[in-house]
Amino acid sequence: MAHAIIIGSGLGGLAIALRLRHKGYQVTVIEQNDYAGGKLHAIQQDGYRFDLGPSLFTLPHLVDELHNLFPEIDNSFTYIKKDIGCHYFWEDGTTFKAYSNKKDFVKHASEVFTESKSTINKYLKTSKSRYNLTKSLFLEKSLHKWSTYFSKDTLKAILNTPFLGLFNTLNKENKVFKNPKLTQLFNRYATYNGSSPYQTPGIMSMIPHLEMGIGTFYPNNGMHRISQSLYELAVKVGVEFRFCESVTKINYIHKKATSVNTSKDVYKGDIVVSNMDIYPTYKKLLSNYPAPLKTLNQERSSSALIFYWGINREFSYLDLHNILFSENYPLEFEHIFDKKTLSSDPTVYINITSKETVKDAPIGCENWFVMINAPGDYGQNWEEMISIARENIITKINKCLDTDIAQHITTEYILDPRGIEKNTSSYRGALYGAASNNKFAAFLRHANFNKGLNNLYHVGGSVHPGGGIPLCLLSAQITADLIPDVS
Ligand SMILES: Cc1cc2nc3c(=O)[nH]c(=O)nc-3n(C[C@H](O)[C@H](O)[C@H](O)COP(=O)(O)OP(=O)(O)OC[C@H]3O[C@@H](n4cnc5c(N)ncnc54)[C@H](O)[C@@H]3O)c2cc1C
Repeated sequence: MAHAIIIGSGLGGLAIALRLRHKGYQVTVIEQNDYAGGKLHAIQQDGYRFDLGPSLFTLPHLVDELHNLFPEIDNSFTYIKKDIGCHYFWEDGTTFKAYSNKKDFVKHASEVFTESKSTINKYLKTSKSRYNLTKSLFLEKSLHKWSTYFSKDTLKAILNTPFLGLFNTLNKENKVFKNPKLTQLFNRYATYNGSSPYQTPGIMSMIPHLEMGIGTFYPNNGMHRISQSLYELAVKVGVEFRFCESVTKINYIHKKATSVNTSKDVYKGDIVVSNMDIYPTYKKLLSNYPAPLKTLNQERSSSALIFYWGINREFSYLDLHNILFSENYPLEFEHIFDKKTLSSDPTVYINITSKETVKDAPIGCENWFVMINAPGDYGQNWEEMISIARENIITKINKCLDTDIAQHITTEYILDPRGIEKNTSSYRGALYGAASNNKFAAFLRHANFNKGLNNLYHVGGSVHPGGGIPLCLLSAQITADLIPDVS
């Protein structure tokens, strides 16, 4: 039987393992950690459970599709649709609940931000059209195959180029709102792929459609169920996992990858798929092979600094997703992308899964995932930056939520860009591979196949179509479409 070797068990690795198994391959996944899931992992600490990485779940059908490949296997993955996408707070006391239902969203936004309903409706309509026009070109196909450019969908997208907002920044597009708070709210979507709203093109205004048009979801028992359920399924259908083994080299002869070396063994494969970040894939595993430097040198997406706090009280006015906005958003992004440091007034995101999964925290308590966007690791003095950021975050929370949060923190775990890189080999700790801070970013991401080695493929957040759960799953779908079934 043809044998596929997968390097890494992040979401992209798990998804391609399942897809290739479904195509009839014998599949071996080699993972350096002692767990599957990569960034999508969780920890328990002092009675609290914390999802370590992603917290926002969109396009759940992409996970369903993987489970549906094997209908004979019991599907233990379920989720709910959220009524409220996010709860927003500003220091002046303004609060806004972003309802998933479009009508409620528009009504409430128009009241809170004194903005005309028609302006908001028009914006959401444009968001939807942009999403529908471009998804098949940018998200569902390889941008590196000529066949992509000869389809009806692509032609439609090209004909609509002037309408896509490619020549404006997202911030300029969002200036359609009179109230700067609403502009800020829609600017925030740039962070969904680790970019700056002051640099990323206006096409990113399609992202709100994911939330307000299609909805936000929550997997029952937490985000970790996404990676765990896929891992459990993979084991059940015969995918072999080798944990605690780091791949150190991809061997090749002429134009063909032949095997991989690990810290313990050598594995031969008919095809090899790397779910490792594309930068170290070339720099470490293919160190003697010519690297596509233009691609590798693309600016990296933002990283994150996360405090996981056990909180010994409940906040009834908080939801699953909460944002406490910076008073100076441009300065925050200038710090992250230009100065590679942290603003003294960061936007604080608080995710509380115990709002949905009560057992994630002791009775009367909450598990807070408190995250700020951060630059990648460029050798900054992180100890000092973390200590200052912690104080600034506490100040922000106290101001926006009118509390004294420090006295309620009973346990703490911290993850910073260095830890994210150490745990998953993401270059500089980037959350989403390369940033989308210019209009050509989509075309400059590495392809899902290797141009020199015919049977080497690439999946995950650092290659096409990009980072985030849905896109990593789509990268595996695009890659699987490039690989023939086992006859
Ligand atoms: C804090 C944080 C918050 C996020 N929030 C969201 C969110 O809310 N919503 C969202 O959609 N996305 C979010 N993301 C992004 C999302 O988590 C990632 O885009 C996605 O999980 C990346 O999956 P991946 O397939 O690229 O693999 P990764 O998760 O990067 O995993 C790669 C795997 O390969 C393994 N590996 C690497 N090198 C080797 C080697 N040489 N040998 C063996 N194994 C190796 C690693 O150990 C790892 O398990 C967030 C990420 C983080 C860190």
